[in-house]
Formats: sequence, C-alpha cells, structure tokens
Amino acid sequence: MKMEEIIRAEGLKKYFPVEQSFLERIRGGNLFVRAVDGVSLTINKGETFALVGESGSGKTTMGKLMLKLLDPTDGRILFNNQDITFLKGERLRRMRKYMQMIYQDPYASLNPRMKIIDIISEPLIEHEICDGDEARRQAKGMLERIGLIPSENFANKYPHQLSGGQRQRIAIARAMILKPSFVVADEPVSMIDVSLRISILELLENFRKELNTAMMFITHDISVASIIAKRMGVMYLGKLVELGLLEDIVNTPAHPYTIALLSSIPSIKTKIKGIKIKGEIPDPKNPPSGCRFHPRCPFATEKCRVEEPPLIDLGKGHFSACHYAPEIMQKARNGFFA
Ligand code: SF4
Repeated sequence: MKMEEIIRAEGLKKYFPVEQSFLERIRGGNLFVRAVDGVSLTINKGETFALVGESGSGKTTMGKLMLKLLDPTDGRILFNNQDITFLKGERLRRMRKYMQMIYQDPYASLNPRMKIIDIISEPLIEHEICDGDEARRQAKGMLERIGLIPSENFANKYPHQLSGGQRQRIAIARAMILKPSFVVADEPVSMIDVSLRISILELLENFRKELNTAMMFITHDISVASIIAKRMGVMYLGKLVELGLLEDIVNTPAHPYTIALLSSIPSIKTKIKGIKIKGEIPDPKNPPSGCRFHPRCPFATEKCRVEEPPLIDLGKGHFSACHYAPEIMQKARNGFFA
C-alpha cells in the first residue's frame, strides 16, 4: 500500500545565537548553537515515526520546528503539500488545530489554575469548533475515553490533584480532542512511573489508529520507540545519521552511533554485540569537522575527520550518514563488532 505523506522537512536548520560580549564577537565572529543542521525527513499519514537520540542531539528542536513553534533558520516545511515555512498570524493559528504537541512534563504543560474539564474543552472553544456547552460535553466524553471514570469525579479537579499518569492522559486528551492530523509527542512517558508507561503508549496508539493521526514520537530510548513506531530516525548533534524501518535498524544498524545506542539498552532484541563510544556529545557551538561523530567513533579514519558523510541510500528506505555504512551493516549482519 502506497503511503501518503502528511509532513515533510527539507534541509531544516535552526541556529540559536550565543550571547557574546562585543570583544568576543570582534575576536571570533558571531557564535551559534547549531541545534538542527540540515535535516530532511517525511512522515506519512497515520504513521508513528520515532526520532531518537541523546539529550543535546536536536530532536526536541526538530519537533518544535515541524510544528512551527520555532521559525527555522533555513529549509522548508510542507504540511499536506502546502509550504508552511513562513506562515504567520491568523493563517498559522487556523492551521494549529491540525498539529498538536504533547510535552514530556504534563505538570508544566497543564495550566494549574484551570479545572480539568476546562483544560480539555479549551482548544475546541479557542478554535471556534463549538460553543462552551458542547465543548464541555465532548470533554466529558474524552475523560471517559482516556479511562478517567466516572468523568464527574475528575471534571472539576485541578492538575495537582491528579497523579503523573493521569495528568499525561489529560495532556493527550487535550491534544487529541481536536482530531489532529499530526502530533509531536516529546518523551511523553519518560516522567511517568514505569508501571504506567505501556498503558500511556497504548492510549496514544489507539488514538492514532482511530483518528489516523501521524505522530513524531521523540525519545532517547530505542526500546520505547520499538513498542510504538514502525519507522525511525536517529539524530546526532543536529544531524540525521540513520533513517529507516525500525526493524531493519535494530537488526542491521548501518551507523556506529546507532549501534552504540542499541548496545546501551539490554532489553532490546538485537543480535548486535555492542561497541563502546568515547567521551561526551561535543559542543554544538563548535561541532567537529567532517563526520560529527568522528571524535567518539571507534572506526574513524582520516577521511571521517575531513569529509562530511552524506546520507547514503542502502535500499528499502534505509539511509545512513557514514562513509562505511555498507561495511558496518555487513558486520552487523554477522552480529560482530570488535
Ligand atoms: Fe564513524 Fe567515520 Fe562512519 Fe563517522 S563516517 S560514523 S567517524 S566510521
């Protein structure tokens, strides 16, 4: 079945200026944190796409750029084949109902002064979809839909009166009540008790199926991504370094950084033996030359230090930004790394 695209990023960049004194600017020029540095990817209607990477890889900035919560420094965003890169004002506000964000911390993302019923119904009123009575009626239905039953016991409570898991359910209900076509869920289970994570992932998955909503699921944990996503992108220091079907990436990773991520998760089912990477993620103000991963990569060569690797097409929608991707993939097939 041919997949239909809902959103596409083309060469997306976001550089944040660094605060510098006048003298620093004179000596070294303007400095920027290159949070996202030329990322292109496509997400299809109704699919869950996982964006994975360590903290500082640029995945949250990428999510915000896709939703137009940040303006890009360069590149384009196409939503439903429409260029939305420079959309502003009323046209942007009208488009927002189709694109929603679920944040990592449900406590910070819910207004502590609002009752639960008003938190869930507010987007319907804000986007003039219905009047207050109808919005509250739908919000009550939503409370039941997310398992907060009977709804009267929850409708007039405030966020601080609920548990972390219940608050995240409310944040999901608030996003989903608009029946969005695209949602960015930024680490939505990382602050939730481990015992409740699966039920939150199931809730997201059920909404996705029911509403045919596409989701970008941001996480640092490939094992969580593997529960919910079919396709995955791996980010490192503002760049996309691997992209493909999650199953292919887990079984035959084609980038050393992905292998290192996989090795750090004992629960994930992969035959790959681990490799160890050195040091910390480098300073995004001053990224390494050539392949950004070279100071930490056990396979780095002189070519890696000087030449930036492009994303190479390895077939079946699998891409890797490594000069030695075919060799790395073959080693992974054999299940062996020195
Ligand atoms: Fe490692 Fe070189 Fe591949 Fe970069 S291009 S991941 S440094 S082998």
